[in-house]
Amino acid sequence: MSKPEIIVYSSTGCPHCEKVKAALKDWGFEYEERNASIHKEYFDQLRERKIMGTPATLINDKLVLGFQEKKLKRLLGITDEQAAAAAAQNAAKAKADAAPEKEETAADSDGIFKPVTADVLNEVYDLVTIGGGPAGASAAVYAARGKLKTLVIDKAPKAGTLAITHKIANYPGVREELTGLELLTRMQAQAKDFGAEFVRSNVLSVDFTEEIKKINIAEGTIQAKSVFIGVGAKAPSSKITGEEEFTGRGVSYCSTCDAAFYQDRVVAVVGDNEEAIHEAEVLSKYCKTVKLLIPLAQVKGDADLSVLESKPNVEIYKRYRLKEIQGTDSVEKIVILDDQKAQQTWDVDGVFLYLGGMMPGTDFLKDAVNRDDEGYIIVDDYLRTNVDGVFAGGDARRTPIKQAVLSAADGAIAALSAEQHVNKRSKLRPQYS
Ligand SMILES: Cc1cc2nc3c(=O)[nH]c(=O)nc-3n(C[C@H](O)[C@H](O)[C@H](O)COP(=O)(O)OP(=O)(O)OC[C@H]3O[C@@H](n4cnc5c(N)ncnc54)[C@H](O)[C@@H]3O)c2cc1C
Repeated sequence: MSKPEIIVYSSTGCPHCEKVKAALKDWGFEYEERNASIHKEYFDQLRERKIMGTPATLINDKLVLGFQEKKLKRLLGITDEQAAAAAAQNAAKAKADAAPEKEETAADSDGIFKPVTADVLNEVYDLVTIGGGPAGASAAVYAARGKLKTLVIDKAPKAGTLAITHKIANYPGVREELTGLELLTRMQAQAKDFGAEFVRSNVLSVDFTEEIKKINIAEGTIQAKSVFIGVGAKAPSSKITGEEEFTGRGVSYCSTCDAAFYQDRVVAVVGDNEEAIHEAEVLSKYCKTVKLLIPLAQVKGDADLSVLESKPNVEIYKRYRLKEIQGTDSVEKIVILDDQKAQQTWDVDGVFLYLGGMMPGTDFLKDAVNRDDEGYIIVDDYLRTNVDGVFAGGDARRTPIKQAVLSAADGAIAALSAEQHVNKRSKLRPQYS
């Protein structure tokens, strides 16, 4: 089969662009990258095709907007099995090239994650962390340094919130240009140096009813004296009518990636959280008009509308709900329900959606620990859940702001709490020396 011609139109700071590029690389395909934030000609090429967002991937001139894994595979002519086999082969090759002296058969190119073996299933770990993001990795650093036999399980080490972050904006001590994945790999490597093990697998369910906790994965059951849940939070998947059809053609989720496409245009921003307000503020620097639709009477948490109230090109609509997105080639109108529940149709060029905010990925826990009505795990100051020996933190618990540094701090607290639990100490033992 001849090699497909692949062009990825990307933008700086675009997490989904990183996902497309990583997938193509994993599956063994070469591509030409055209960064539309840096090169105006690429930006113009997208505009000519009426594309108003990145990533936009052309495979033999067939277009994929956003990160659509299934469509990418279909156009590349590969099955799920072929993609997985190619990814494993490339990971093994990358590892062999990087460190030929090491013997491990890693499931990941950085050599940190390994497959689940019989040894892993036969062990009773002191601490198992579910999730290897900054929360889980930091917990592993502290736990392993505290001499706990530590295992980190992660289903997709390159797809967590930090891992897909293109550029670290703020993390204490990080002054240079660094991707989220590079920062995360440093944390994981540090934990591994202290003796923590990392496996790649999806935790399907848990049983915390006995002293030795059971964590069920496809390969079997992992046993632990204590567990830290650091599974992060992601955007929910329920879609508005028209959302999927117009993604990349007027529907966007990222002003950093796509604001430039809406210079002097009219956009709607839909959401009630800090992110929506921040994004509306960024868009107000580019757009003729920004219409902010807030579904309820109030914004959430600490979100502060005052930054927008003084901007002449921002209109704020409280109790307005987005019902439908309409258009032909790209977004042209939105149908909304106003504060009197009357339907109105507005002309807009784009819609930026920050609707559900982030939802914690905790459904697999069912009733094993107490969660609030949005699925956030309920913990105390020591990050203890209602179950003895089970801790949670990072984006999976309700925090005023979601930041890697806070997740890492949670991991540290939880690991020290776990150490206290496993070694039956009366107090937390700090690691000063
Ligand atoms: C675009 C963007 C830019 C950002 N920039 C910054 C920044 O500059 N500085 C900063 O401090 N913060 C930044 N953040 C926020 C930061 O990335 C998050 O707050 C942080 O990553 C949360 O860490 P976590 O460990 O709780 O979750 P995550 O980083 O999401 O990690 C959770 C991990 O759990 C795994 N997992 C989930 N479910 C399961 C399961 N069932 N079984 C096994 N594994 C599972 C996932 O694969 C994932 O690897 C940014 C966020 C975004 C979206």
